[in-house]
Amino acid sequence: MSAWEVVIGLEVHVQLTTQSKMFSGAAIAYGAEPNCQANEVDVAMPGVLPTVNAEAIRQAVRFGLAVDGKLSGVSVFERKNYFYPDLPKGYQLSQFAQPIVVGGVVCARRTDGSALAVQLTRAHLEEDAGKSLHDAFASSTGVDYNRAGTPLLEVVTEPVLQSAADAVAYLKALHTLVRWLGICDGNMQEGSFRCDANVSLRPIGSTTLRTRSEVKNVNSFRFVEKAINYEIERHTRLYERGEQPVQETRLYDAARDETRSMRSKEYAEDYRYFPDPDLPPLRLDPGLVEQERERLPELPAARHARYLARLGLSEYDADLLTADRHLADYFEQALAAVANAPKLAANWVLGELSAALNAAQLSIEATPLSASRLGDLLAKIVSKEINSKIAKRVLEAMWQGQESAEEVIARLGLKRIDDSAALGSMIDEILAKHPDQLAQYRGGQEKLMQFFIGQGMRATRGQADPAALQRLLAEKLAG
Ligand code: ADP
Ligand code: MG
Repeated sequence: MSAWEVVIGLEVHVQLTTQSKMFSGAAIAYGAEPNCQANEVDVAMPGVLPTVNAEAIRQAVRFGLAVDGKLSGVSVFERKNYFYPDLPKGYQLSQFAQPIVVGGVVCARRTDGSALAVQLTRAHLEEDAGKSLHDAFASSTGVDYNRAGTPLLEVVTEPVLQSAADAVAYLKALHTLVRWLGICDGNMQEGSFRCDANVSLRPIGSTTLRTRSEVKNVNSFRFVEKAINYEIERHTRLYERGEQPVQETRLYDAARDETRSMRSKEYAEDYRYFPDPDLPPLRLDPGLVEQERERLPELPAARHARYLARLGLSEYDADLLTADRHLADYFEQALAAVANAPKLAANWVLGELSAALNAAQLSIEATPLSASRLGDLLAKIVSKEINSKIAKRVLEAMWQGQESAEEVIARLGLKRIDDSAALGSMIDEILAKHPDQLAQYRGGQEKLMQFFIGQGMRATRGQADPAALQRLLAEKLAG
C-alpha cells in the first residue's frame, strides 16, 4: 500500500449569484416550475443571440483577485460540442483555450491546523446544462431547461492533492471563499457547489502522472472523501493484481458507498471546440478590475491569521469564526464594544449567541440580537456591572425583544449591588438568621466566611459585588 502515492485534482462548479443567466435575461431562482425560467436563448430558438452577463464577469474577476490568479485581458467563449437532450443548442458555451483566470492559489488548513496551499490551474466561465427528469413520467423522460444557461465558474486545481482529507480541506476553504466573496450561495444540496474528483496513483518517487478516474458531481464533503478513498483502494487493488485502471468517468453511490463506471474515457472525447462566432473575445475593462480590487474584503485566511496573531484567539475559535463572513463580521462588530476582550467576545458569539441561533434555527444574518446590542451587553460584563451568569439572563430577555442591555438590567433589577447600606442590612439579616455559624466563626472557624458569602450571593440572586460583600462581611463578622 505504502509503495503508492496518491494524486488528486479537483474540478468544482461554482454556481454564481447573478440574478439572470450567463447569456440571457431569464431568472435563475432555484425551485421554479419546470421550464418557466428558460427563454428563447436558453432553449436555442433559431436566430437568437447570446449576451454576456456583466455581473458574472465581475464575480469571476473578484474570484481571480482573491486567489491571486492572473486575469486574462482577453478571454474567449468557445462552443464545446456534444449531443445530449439537456443541451438544447447542441453545444455548451465555455472558456477553453483562454480562460478568464489563469493560475492562483487557495489557502486551506488541514484539521491539524497545518497550512495547505493549493495551486489552481484555471477558473473559467461557462453555462450549465438543463436537467433530465427520469422519474417525472411513466414511460418517457422529461427535460427541464430552467438550469440551462445558469452561470458557472469552474475552478480547476493542478493534480497536487495527496489525500482525500487534503481534498476535503481544500474544498472547505474554496466553499468558504466563494461564499465570503458573495459569488456563490454554497448550497450543495441544490447543486450550487459541485465537485468532480480526479484520482490516480503512482509509485512513490515517480513524477509522471498515471491513468486517472474521475468521480462526477459529488455533492457533500463527506461523500467526496469516501468516493476518493474508494478510488484509492480500487486503484491500489488493480495495481497489486498487476492490472491497470482505465481512464473513465465514475459515479459515487452513497447508499452502497462505492463508485461505478459511467462511461469509459479511454479515447479523449472530441468536443470540437471553436470560438463562438456570436460572442466577440471578452476584453476586461481595467476600471472594473480596479473597482473589484478596491472592494475586495479581507479574505478568510488573512482574517484567521489576524485573529490568532493580533487577538490571541485559539485556532479552534478562529476556525469557527472565519468559516462564515457574516459570523466573522458580527464578531468584529460586537468586539468593537469590548476591544480588549476578544476572547470574551468570541466565547459569547460562538457560545450563547450560536446556541440561541441554533435553537431558533436561524442563520446569523437573521439574528434578532444585533452585534452592537450584544457588544453593549459584553461591555457590562467587562465593567463588572453584571457577571456572566446574569448576563446570560439578560441575553435571553434581549433575544425576545428590542430592549437594550441597559433596559433589561434596569427592568429586571439585575444590576450588581455594591451599595454598602443595602449590602449591610442584608448581612445583618443573615447573621441574625445563623447565630450558630456566627458563634463558630468568632470562635476561630474562619472557613465559615465562604458559607456567609454563599448566603449573601443567594440573598442577592448573584448580584452582590463579591469584593464589597466580602469586605463588609469581614467587618461585621469581626463584630
Ligand atoms: P478534463 O477536463 O478532461 O477532465 P483536465 O486535463 O482539464 O481534464 O483535468 C481535469 C482535472 O483532473 C484537473 O484538476 C487535473 O489536475 C486533474 N488531473 C489530470 N490528470 C490527472 C491524474 N493523472 N491524476 C489525478 N488528477 C489528474
Ligand atoms: Mg473533468
